[in-house]
Amino acid sequence: MPPPSVAVIGGGVGGTLASLALRSRGIAPTIFDSSSRLGGRSTAGHFLAARSPHVGDVTRTLEGAGLLRKWTGRFGVLGGKGGFIDAASFNLAQGKKKRPQPGEPDPPTPHTDTGDFCGFLDHSMEDVYCAPGGFSALCRGVVEMAGIETRLSARVEKAEWSEELGKWRLSVAGGGGGGEKEGEGAPAESTFDAVIFAAHDPSLAASAISSISLPPGHDPAVASRLSTLSSDLRALRLSRTSPVITARITYPQGSLDRVPFDCATLPADPALQFLVREASKAGGGASGASAEGDLWTAVTTSTFAKIHVPHTCSPLPPIDEVTSTVVGGVSRSLAPFFGGAASNVPTPLTATAKVWRAGFTTSSLIPPTVPGEAVIELEPWRMAVAGDFVRTAGSPGEAAAAAGLAAGESVARWFGEQ
Ligand SMILES: Cc1cc2nc3c(=O)[nH]c(=O)nc-3n(C[C@H](O)[C@H](O)[C@H](O)COP(=O)(O)OP(=O)(O)OC[C@H]3O[C@@H](n4cnc5c(N)ncnc54)[C@H](O)[C@@H]3O)c2cc1C
Repeated sequence: MPPPSVAVIGGGVGGTLASLALRSRGIAPTIFDSSSRLGGRSTAGHFLAARSPHVGDVTRTLEGAGLLRKWTGRFGVLGGKGGFIDAASFNLAQGKKKRPQPGEPDPPTPHTDTGDFCGFLDHSMEDVYCAPGGFSALCRGVVEMAGIETRLSARVEKAEWSEELGKWRLSVAGGGGGGEKEGEGAPAESTFDAVIFAAHDPSLAASAISSISLPPGHDPAVASRLSTLSSDLRALRLSRTSPVITARITYPQGSLDRVPFDCATLPADPALQFLVREASKAGGGASGASAEGDLWTAVTTSTFAKIHVPHTCSPLPPIDEVTSTVVGGVSRSLAPFFGGAASNVPTPLTATAKVWRAGFTTSSLIPPTVPGEAVIELEPWRMAVAGDFVRTAGSPGEAAAAAGLAAGESVARWFGEQ
């Protein structure tokens, strides 16, 4: 018997951890990613929370391998009447529990615009990790460590179930060669025994489900489930994503040392929801700033992004204009630490903004109150769908990680590997 072939479509956190779960159970998957690097949206992410024991086991392994580290720093809430409040005092004042008690459903994921960026404050800070080299480096490190075949710049255009072959047929544009390099010569069509869909756009999985033809005399309940699932996945893409803008802003070295935090959420701010001193991820706090300057990242609210870069807007407003609006917002937020005037806040050396059109999913496919798995499984066709849109967890990155791990474990189990 040849070893089973498994395609993982999408090399974000979800797809990468799905592949790790497969690899550690003796199955060699192939990751396809349309981008030229791994990581997906996590390349914009700041932290990976590990509140569930399942994700926690993997984050501890990755911490041991030097790919993740606990993010320690001065975290809290900025704005409102209290200026800056540290996370512990804030959570105490809110009466928040650190974790759900056994048997309790997970709270809904506060993805965006909720005043608690990605559920950051909801976490016990012992459970929060950052990736010192960024999350793309984390994903690259995982595939190198586990020896996972990776095809970059390889866009899966179509995935169809062939009843005749009992396999999935994938049409792939670009991205030939094994390993993590771009190249020529990938077969336009390949077949796989199983597929994990871990792309941010669930419409690919929706079309794949539509390609399944049921034999005559099939159970109508199965046809109905497939059809509902397919249309729910399509609807997710259309109506349940929201944009966000990030800005990377470099201030003269030392000029923001008096700011008393490394990372803050801004519940009262209509434009900004998260501010991060990047040097704190290296464990240095303010002292970790490089000679080139002190790099900060600002994440806007989706409301702000929708106003400044509307979906229908073509051409886009000049990104410089958006960047200076974000920088102005950051100056206003930091004003309390500079005598109360935004004009006293140091002028940045550089600032660049990036738009994430479908940055966050605004709701999940499986409601948080319904107990069950973090992944969609169609075992008869050896297909699983993973992603932060499947089921909420404490934060979207953790939802993606949990779904990916569950997908990899399920597929391995279908081939008799526990
Ligand atoms: C600005 C920003 C900041 C964030 N910060 C945080 C944070 O600090 N903490 C947190 O928990 N969450 C954060 N998130 C959310 C988090 O990044 C996502 O929830 C998580 O990365 C989703 O992972 P994923 O693997 O499900 O999907 P993605 O990361 O979207 O990965 C999908 C991958 O599939 C690939 N792909 C898509 N279509 C195809 C195709 N047809 N063929 C081949 N490949 C394909 C894409 O290139 C991509 O690499 C942030 C999101 C944004 C936008």
